[in-house]
Amino acid sequence: MKINKIILTMAASTCLVFLSYAQNQAQKMTDKKSVNTVHKFEVEADRFADLQVLRYQIEGFDELTAKQKELAYYLFEAANSGRDIIYDQKYKYNLTIRKTIEAIFNTYMGNKKDAQFQKFETYAKRVFFSNGIHHHYSNLKFIPECTYDFFKVLVQGSDYRLLPLNGKSIDDFLLDLKPIMYDPKFENKIVDLASGIDNVKASSNNFYEGITQKEVEDYYDAKMTKDDTQPISWGLNSKMVKENGVVTEKVWKVGGMYSRSMEQMVYWLKKAVNVAENDQQKLTLSLLVEYFKTGDLKKWDEYNIAWVSDVNSRLDVVNGFIEVYDDAIGKRGAFESVVSLKDMIATKRIEAVAKEAQWFEDNSPIADEHKKKEVKGITAKVITVIQESGASAQSTPIGINLPNANWIRQQHGSKSVSLSNIVHSYNIVGAKSPMLKEFAENEKQIERAKKYGSLAGDLHTDMHEVIGHASGQINKGIGDPDQTLKNYASTLEEARADLVALYYVLDQKLVDMGVMPSIDCGKAEYDGYIMNGLITQLTRLNIGENLEEAHMRNRQLNAKWAYEMGKKDNVISFIKRNGKTYVKVNDYNKLRDLFGQLLKEIQRIKSEGDFKAATELVENYGVKVDQTLLKEVKSRFNKLNVAAYKGFIQPKLVPVMNGETIVDVKVEYPTDFLKTQLELSKKYSFLPAIN
Ligand SMILES: [Zn+2]
Repeated sequence: MKINKIILTMAASTCLVFLSYAQNQAQKMTDKKSVNTVHKFEVEADRFADLQVLRYQIEGFDELTAKQKELAYYLFEAANSGRDIIYDQKYKYNLTIRKTIEAIFNTYMGNKKDAQFQKFETYAKRVFFSNGIHHHYSNLKFIPECTYDFFKVLVQGSDYRLLPLNGKSIDDFLLDLKPIMYDPKFENKIVDLASGIDNVKASSNNFYEGITQKEVEDYYDAKMTKDDTQPISWGLNSKMVKENGVVTEKVWKVGGMYSRSMEQMVYWLKKAVNVAENDQQKLTLSLLVEYFKTGDLKKWDEYNIAWVSDVNSRLDVVNGFIEVYDDAIGKRGAFESVVSLKDMIATKRIEAVAKEAQWFEDNSPIADEHKKKEVKGITAKVITVIQESGASAQSTPIGINLPNANWIRQQHGSKSVSLSNIVHSYNIVGAKSPMLKEFAENEKQIERAKKYGSLAGDLHTDMHEVIGHASGQINKGIGDPDQTLKNYASTLEEARADLVALYYVLDQKLVDMGVMPSIDCGKAEYDGYIMNGLITQLTRLNIGENLEEAHMRNRQLNAKWAYEMGKKDNVISFIKRNGKTYVKVNDYNKLRDLFGQLLKEIQRIKSEGDFKAATELVENYGVKVDQTLLKEVKSRFNKLNVAAYKGFIQPKLVPVMNGETIVDVKVEYPTDFLKTQLELSKKYSFLPAIN
């Protein structure tokens, strides 16, 4: 639930897969396929405010059978059918504003070259990017830069029949919109986690109405049974309101709230059931249909159990009310969908690592008594994204680890996926970015980063997920880290998984396994990690701030600890040149030893539940930021004019019909962000302005 200014965010439960910003900037694809792609496919599409809009390609779509393509098409339609829902969930008046924007673009006849209109257009694009009027990352309301008077002119000059007036006069309608759009203090934050307040009341999302946090908590306390080994995810699929003094849930289902979108989703998912690849997938999709029709959360659990077991299908889909970050008390799920196909080649790489999991555990530098005798990995695969919608668009995760229910994860397992074509597009943009040139210490670092950075990043992510989190064991009688290590648990867990990856990325074993061409690839990862942990990740902070977010803390902890401990052997050095600070790794093997030592210690802390040692480690190395360095880094970064956040235009699947039958499906790659969004609104507006 912690929010920070991270460039790439993702949707996961226990593990967040972050591709670090600097890693992005430093990476460049070197394989032949990618080089070809660079020439024929333009990744960069638009740039406005603090955002850059990119495009991605669906590699491998042509390899699918006609039936698989048909399945992909139905899942694509189902994903888009839920688009309105995310707007309404984030804020009650988002659809009103979006429909107003659409009426203006579709019918306003005035001068669109006008500077005020350009400002309005930027606002409109920001609304489409964030699925509403609050920033997709900071959750804060953004205000149009065009004046309210100009906005009035636009509304008055548009076709009133297309405005969501809801029985009001245009004048009253405009008066109502004024605080909603122009008052920065009015309902200004989707989710407010400040302590000592009623977080439910303070948050402007549309999950609750007329109800206090206490009332919500009492409602669910009464429902929950202690010692339930298979607890229901209460509240996941409803809005909670008070009607005539009674607390009730308005369930998101066919016949309930959002019915018109849900009916569409069910319509397309039923078609998908008919062309499913195998029985397991058929069962999975049928359970999803049942859940959307009934709103029964037991069905949702059944669906997730079936979904986890669906490992042999080429196509896969995430669809439903899933991530709970937008709810201050973490109950209500935002709608999202990700349609994907398995990336067969990259999956082989991750499977090769998973297959050797026991070797990695046996050869780990951690103490023998903390090693797992028998490692059970998680199902991991690499996917190519076909379509994203809801909370995973336009800003997207690069990795997904689901389901969220802990008991299902423990009893039935989970799926961990990394989104290869999304990462690929980031890499292409990153290679052009001036970040590497500005912050790398020497040409050799740059050269190595360009040659190996992308693969090194992939390997790091694979190992972090598959052999990192899965490794080690907690001593008998010691509780889970969230009880023993408390607020330091997630930082240390991420640090531990990173260290496993770092320790092995310099191991000849990877070369012998055939997943890494040379140890130089591992060196590129060390350069990038140290540079990011000590310098470039600071670009996300404001002057005066220290580190808060778990992944950022963990990276600085690992890098700074290694720097301090390696000082006497000059393992890493800070270099100052023309007023600019750089870091350089001088001894890669010694650095590897240091990573191994730290891994051993952090595993000990976790295994023994040593809160005191956890506190000292994180507070001494992972929190404090050298403010002089921060100022320098910020001023260098600001000169580069790099967009802080990125998102995507989605590809479009177009069926080729023969009469009533789909005989093929073509992929189109739109280039105009605004136009694409307006088209989506034309085709997929199922919900009224107010729900
Ligand atoms: Zn992780």
